[in-house]
Amino acid sequence: MTYSYTQISHYLRCPRSYRFRYLDGWREKDTRATMVFGRCFETALGAYFRGEDSTAVLFKEWGAFRDSPFEYRKGDCWDRLVHQGVHLLQKFAQDDRVQVLRPQQNLQVKLLRALSGNNEFVSYIDALGTLDSKPCLIDWKTTTSRYAEEPQALLTLDPQLICYSWISGISDVAFVVFVRKQQPEIQYLKASISEDQRREFGRLIETTVGQVETGQFPGHSGIRFPQNPCVSCSHLGLCLNDQQ
Ligand code: SF4
Repeated sequence: MTYSYTQISHYLRCPRSYRFRYLDGWREKDTRATMVFGRCFETALGAYFRGEDSTAVLFKEWGAFRDSPFEYRKGDCWDRLVHQGVHLLQKFAQDDRVQVLRPQQNLQVKLLRALSGNNEFVSYIDALGTLDSKPCLIDWKTTTSRYAEEPQALLTLDPQLICYSWISGISDVAFVVFVRKQQPEIQYLKASISEDQRREFGRLIETTVGQVETGQFPGHSGIRFPQNPCVSCSHLGLCLNDQQ
C-alpha cells in the first residue's frame, strides 16, 4: 500500500473520516474555487521557471473553469481570482528570491520511501531550488490570509514540512505563501528541521500505518472550539446517518 502526507494527516485528524474517504470511497466533489485556482496558479509558477509567459498560462488554465459552477467565498469571483493571481506572479518575479535550476527535474519531484510490510510513502515536492541563494526544499501555498510567523521558529512545527524533510533528508525547507487579499502579499517562510524531528516523524508514520492495517478507525469527534473537526468535516452527513 502507498501512503502520503494527506492520508496520514487525514487519519490523525479523524480515523473514522479516513475510513470513509480511503476505504469506503466517499470523496468530496471538486467544487471549491480556491482549490482549483491553487492548482492553476501552481501550473503558472511552473511556466515562470521554464521561462514561459506565466500570466498567459494562468489565464489559459483558470480560463477552462470560467463557467464552472464553483462555490466562491464571499466577495470572490472568477475575475477577482485571476487578477490577484497575475498580481502575485508579477510580485514574485520582482522579488526574485526563488530560483529553480533545471525545472523539468526540480519541480513536482516525486519521492518514494519504503515502509515496513511492503508499504511505501510517496510525496510530490513542489520545488527543489534556492531561496535567497540558499538551497532549500519549497512548498507553494495559495491562501486568503497570512500564515502565522510568531513566535520565532514556529514553522519548524509544521507537520507537512517535517514530512517533506523526513522523506527527502533535506533540513532546510520553506513555504512560499501567496496571500490573495486586497493588497496581495508573498511570505517567504523558512525553517530548519532537525534529525530528531525526522526520526520522530518516521515513528509516527509507522505507528499510524500499523493502526490503519489493524483496522483501528475510531471517530475523533468534536463540535466545540478548539477541537471542532466535525463542524467542517465533509463526512458529517455519514456520521449523522444522512447519506444524502
Ligand atoms: S463528522 Fe466528526 S467523527 Fe465523523 S468522520 Fe467527521 S470528524 Fe470524524
